[in-house]
Amino acid sequence: MLNYYVMTLFPEMIESTLGYSITGRALEKELISLEAINIRDYAQNKSRHVDDYIYGGGSGMLMQVEPVWLCYKDLMSRVDKGKTRVLYMSPHGRKFDQSFAQELSQSENLVFLCGHYEGIDDRAIQLIDPELVSLGDYVLTGGELPSIVMIDAITRLVPGVLGSDDSAVYESFYNDLLEYPQYTRPPEYEGLKVPEVLLSGNHKLIEEWRLNEAIRITKEKRPDMYEKYISKE
Ligand code: SAM
Repeated sequence: MLNYYVMTLFPEMIESTLGYSITGRALEKELISLEAINIRDYAQNKSRHVDDYIYGGGSGMLMQVEPVWLCYKDLMSRVDKGKTRVLYMSPHGRKFDQSFAQELSQSENLVFLCGHYEGIDDRAIQLIDPELVSLGDYVLTGGELPSIVMIDAITRLVPGVLGSDDSAVYESFYNDLLEYPQYTRPPEYEGLKVPEVLLSGNHKLIEEWRLNEAIRITKEKRPDMYEKYISKE
């Protein structure tokens, strides 16, 4: 079982979104577990505030070091640190992609630390020393959406989560190729026909067609990926 722990100021965002569809079923089948931990529960003041003005000036507020560090320490007191990867959602981080998702899907415990406001006091990052992971070169409001996206992508790769263990093998980015076009009934719509070969029942020809289409589409839409693919051939 892969255990996810999300340290956040908005646990409802995490729990409500991931309770549906494939991740929801993976939770039900106990292939994954999910715990959203509210950093605010570790605020040491009456008003339970967790942010403050930024030293040196500048707009916005910053999450304070103490609640984040106390939350992390409490979590670490009950999980095996040697079997845990701690990821801080940050635009400074390693960019998330399918091979990173594949790597993370082999983990036992994954902790996601979500920043909010202008981010987190750097001392929390120094103390925790997490791996920094970015969803892409843009700035989001918080780390919750990146965590949700990553948990979704990782969960698909956990054995037993998809209907067939082959499902992820034939998806885009596997083997550095985008997926071939797919069709379902009816065989013809508005004059557009499903390619004959897919109705032939000839599995060898279908496989060949799919591979050729995947190569054609990758070359056309993602020449960078295509170069990587042919360099391996
Ligand atoms: N002031 C920060 C900067 O310029 O780098 C941006 C802070 S952002 C508004 C608040 C939080 O959202 C960050 O601490 C991080 O956790 C999350 N975040 C924003 N963009 C992200 C991205 N591209 N990937 C991962 N997390 C991101």
